[in-house]
Amino acid sequence: MLNTLNLSTPLGLALALAARTPLRRGPGGLFIAERYRPGLPVAGAFTVGNVVFTRGSATDLVGRRGLCAHEARHATQYTVCLGLPFLPLYFAGQLAGAVVALVCRGDAASFNPFERLAGLEDGGYRPRKDLRP
Ligand SMILES: [Zn+2]
Repeated sequence: MLNTLNLSTPLGLALALAARTPLRRGPGGLFIAERYRPGLPVAGAFTVGNVVFTRGSATDLVGRRGLCAHEARHATQYTVCLGLPFLPLYFAGQLAGAVVALVCRGDAASFNPFERLAGLEDGGYRPRKDLRP
């Protein structure tokens, strides 16, 4: 509901419409835009407001409870960030993560605070065991 008011879910629904992805209802008030085909972003799944985009089917996504929970946490992050400000904050986190990754030899997402808070392993990332979460 809050992500509807802060316009992040309407943006996600508009993106789903523009990408011609079928929409399904998901758990916890999420929408799932399945079979997303455009090349960007390079991700198996991503979230805009309460809309989770997946390259596979909605059934497959819901069956992957960890990944579904990870994307639901991103939806919560949109709420905490008051909607669309999540996007530049996320990309700033990704940029900062890339800098840290250069020093620590990891991948940028593993050092992005939003990905860490959403759960790296649930999101399919392999966190380095020698670094604290
Ligand atoms: Zn994520």
